[in-house]
Amino acid sequence: MGQLPEHVVVVGAGLGGLRTVEALRTRGHVGRITLIGAEVHAPYDRPPLSKQILNGTWEPAKATFKDAEALAALDVTMVFGTRAVGLHGTTVELEDGTSVQGDAVVLATGVTARTLPDQPAGVVTLRTLEDAVALRGAFDSLSSLLIVGAGFIGAEVACAAHGKGVQVTVLEALPVPVERALGREVGALAARLFTEAGLDLRCDTRITRFVDERTVELSDGSTVTADLVLVGIGSLPDVSWLDGAGLDTTDGVACDASGRVLGTSGVWAVGDIAAWWDGSRNRHHRNEHWTTTVDQTQVVACDVLGIEGPALAVPYVWSDQFGMKIQTFGRTDLAEEVVQLHGTGLEGGPVKGTVVGYFAGGVLVGAVGFGAPAKLVRYRAMIAEGAARDAVLAQSDATAVGG
Ligand SMILES: Cc1cc2nc3c(=O)[nH]c(=O)nc-3n(C[C@H](O)[C@H](O)[C@H](O)COP(=O)(O)OP(=O)(O)OC[C@H]3O[C@@H](n4cnc5c(N)ncnc54)[C@H](O)[C@@H]3O)c2cc1C
Repeated sequence: MGQLPEHVVVVGAGLGGLRTVEALRTRGHVGRITLIGAEVHAPYDRPPLSKQILNGTWEPAKATFKDAEALAALDVTMVFGTRAVGLHGTTVELEDGTSVQGDAVVLATGVTARTLPDQPAGVVTLRTLEDAVALRGAFDSLSSLLIVGAGFIGAEVACAAHGKGVQVTVLEALPVPVERALGREVGALAARLFTEAGLDLRCDTRITRFVDERTVELSDGSTVTADLVLVGIGSLPDVSWLDGAGLDTTDGVACDASGRVLGTSGVWAVGDIAAWWDGSRNRHHRNEHWTTTVDQTQVVACDVLGIEGPALAVPYVWSDQFGMKIQTFGRTDLAEEVVQLHGTGLEGGPVKGTVVGYFAGGVLVGAVGFGAPAKLVRYRAMIAEGAARDAVLAQSDATAVGG
């Protein structure tokens, strides 16, 4: 792509797609933009699906990012309710047999909820507005809910259901919740949130099969039955529509560190589907999180327009559960050591107020806080600069532990 694009085609009308469009306009693109989305809805936000919408504090419409007037002000051709089914160069083929040719294409088609083998149709997942509305409605008639997976979404659904008086059982295959993201020690803290709230959390528990849509069989031969089963075991990038495009889709769409899709000219990818090159990990990595998606759209919009873009910020993730925010900065998965910086949760004290630092090579690479936003935020800059362990501990209350 030698010259600046006149027509940018954005595929996927969720967070990444809409924010890309906004960033293109904010940063001066006056040419055409086409936004293609498989869902019939105007772009909406997903975090409230498992929080405010599920617990009933928001009406579904409140999750919509922009009303019709604000969308129109972006001066974009919107093609909603139509799935892209192929990509050839910078031409996007749609399921209705038409195609849209751009000078640049941004892929923002996100992920789909992962399911278990032979998962019956009546077992639910949570990814879309429809999923959230149906689940919220089901709470009124449920007396019990079985959740498979104690990750962030499983925990948020568990909290919402518990708040509606539903008896909740959560099955987790690993020894503690969120072990892959936060490690064994901190995962044990997350487990305490479930049990201290009175939920039935069963870790190290594997499902061998669905007996029917309300009953699962476990590896010890026992069964668990509930009025409804929800599977929350992560997500998968839906790259099947890119078959034949010649892209590396081993785990999402492989991109360089600016979101340019490898092996293409004029194609970028952002958000959950995008596996950007990550120098700190020395490999491609997908970050399925809200803030990273937004940060990537700024970088991509600038790259598309040939202007210098911002550097990616320190990754940030949050989850609202058990009456507190669990917040993470940085790359906790890189850690060789965890140190409690504030609070006493790792020693059996209250989970709320605990902040844990993650260190690799003697520098701070990540931090997580349980209901401790003010204390946690000071470590964001220290992660960005790769602060040494001693400097971090000097900022903390960790005089007696972790040293
Ligand atoms: C229930 C839930 C709660 C969450 N909570 C948090 C949270 O608390 N904190 C956090 O950091 N992150 C959270 N996330 C993750 C966050 O919402 C995502 O990281 C973010 O939405 C990613 O944006 P995206 O544009 O990549 O994908 P999406 O927002 O999923 O948008 C992708 C869009 O592309 C469409 N699409 C797919 N295939 C095609 C196709 N072939 N053609 C056209 N359109 C297509 C999809 O229908 C979808 O509308 C949550 C996600 C979910 C599901």
